[in-house]
Amino acid sequence: MDKVGVYICSGYGIGEALDLEALKQVAETELKAEVVKIVGSVEAEDLELINQEVAAEGINRLVVAGPTFRFYPKNAFPASVMVDYVNLREQVAWAHEPNNEDTQALAADNLRMGVTRVRKMAPLEPVPECNSINKDILVVGGGPAGLTAAYYLAKASKKVILFERKLSVGGGMWGGGVMFNEIVVQAEGKRILDEFGIRSVPFEDDYFSADSVETVSTMCSQACKAGAKIFNLFSVEDVMLTEGRVTGLVINWSAVDIARLHVDPITIRAKAVIDATGHAAEVANVIQRKSGVRLDTPSGKIEGERPMWAEVGEKMIVENTREFFPGVFAAGMCCNAIYGAPRMGPVFGGMLMSGKKVAEMILARLMTKPE
Ligand SMILES: Cc1cc2nc3c(=O)[nH]c(=O)nc-3n(C[C@H](O)[C@H](O)[C@H](O)COP(=O)(O)OP(=O)(O)OC[C@H]3O[C@@H](n4cnc5c(N)ncnc54)[C@H](O)[C@@H]3O)c2cc1C
Repeated sequence: MDKVGVYICSGYGIGEALDLEALKQVAETELKAEVVKIVGSVEAEDLELINQEVAAEGINRLVVAGPTFRFYPKNAFPASVMVDYVNLREQVAWAHEPNNEDTQALAADNLRMGVTRVRKMAPLEPVPECNSINKDILVVGGGPAGLTAAYYLAKASKKVILFERKLSVGGGMWGGGVMFNEIVVQAEGKRILDEFGIRSVPFEDDYFSADSVETVSTMCSQACKAGAKIFNLFSVEDVMLTEGRVTGLVINWSAVDIARLHVDPITIRAKAVIDATGHAAEVANVIQRKSGVRLDTPSGKIEGERPMWAEVGEKMIVENTREFFPGVFAAGMCCNAIYGAPRMGPVFGGMLMSGKKVAEMILARLMTKPE
C-alpha cells in the first residue's frame, strides 16, 4: 500500500518568497498526499525528524520540496523509500520574483510534477530471464557523461555495458573547448577529475583546466579497469518497451547501419538504460517517435534544447539528470534537450557531474526494495 509524504521546507529563503500554506493545500487536497508537513529545514535534527516520521507513518514515497537535491547528504533517506526532490530554492525562490502569482504557480506545478513522479516510480526490478543477454545497466554514448556514469556504476560492482557508435569513445571532449584541447571544469567537476586521477591546474576563480586527451583516455581506461565493458562501433537503434517501461536496447553494428544492410539487430535486457547520446537525445527520440508514450517532461514530449545561456545551462544539466521514462535516465547534454534548458559554453564539468549523478540515482534505485 503506497503512502505519499510531502515535506515542504520553509528555510533558506523559501518561506519568505512563497505562500507555503497554499502549497500545503495543493499537496493535501489536490494531490491527496497522505502526510503533508512544513518543516524549518532539511538538515541535521530536522532531517532526522523527517526520517523518524517517515518510519512511524509508514511513508514509502517521499517528496522533499526545498533546496536542490545536491544539498542532501548521501543516503539522506532510507533505501526502502522512493524519493523525489522538488527544487523550490534555486529554481523558484531564488530565481523568480518573491511573493508573485507566477512564482507561486511555478512552485505549485513543480510540486505537482514531484508528487506525480514519486507515485509513478518503480523499483528497478531484475528483468525476467529470456534468450537475450542480461545486464544491470546499459549506457548509450561514450562521451564524458556516459563514461563517467559507466565508471561509477562499474566501481559499485554493477554489470555495465556502454555502447558507442563511433570507432573511438570520448564524444565531444577530445577537442576540448573550441579545439584548444583543454577542458574547463568547475570546482565540483575538478573533484571528479581528481577521482579519476586526471591532472588539472587552476584557471580562474573556482575553475580548473585539464588536457582533453589525457581526460578522455584516462576516463576510458578507468571505466574499463573498474569493470565497465565498452563496445565501440555499435549503434543503439531502438529500445525494448514492455508494460510501460524500457527493459532493454536493440543494437546493431554501426557498419551495418552505414551500409544499410538488412542484418538482424541484437537485443540486450537491463534494469536501467542511460541516454548519454549528447544533443541528439537519440534514446528519448526513438521512444517518442515509435511508441507515442508520454515522457516525464512538462509537455510529455522532448522539450528541445534552448539557446545558449551558459550559467543556467550548466546548473540545469545536473538538475535535469533524471529518469525521463520508466527505466531510462538522461545524462549529459541530452538532459537539456529533453527538458528544454539552455545549451552552454565549453565547460565540461556539467557532463561529469551529470554522469556521476545518474550513477548515484541508479545505485539508490537498485537498492530500493519496497516492503
Ligand atoms: C552540434 C553540437 C553542438 C554543441 N554545442 C555545445 C554547447 O552548446 N555547449 C557545450 O558545452 N558543448 C557543446 N558541444 C560540445 C560537446 O559535444 C558537449 O559539450 C559534450 O561533449 C557533451 O557530452 P555528452 O557526454 O553529453 O555527449 P557527447 O560528447 O556528444 O557524446 C555522445 C556520444 O554518444 C554517441 N552516440 C550518439 N547516439 C548514439 C547511438 N544511437 N548509439 C551509440 N552511440 C551513440 C556519439 O557518437 C557520442 O560519442 C556541442 C557539440 C555538438 C556536436
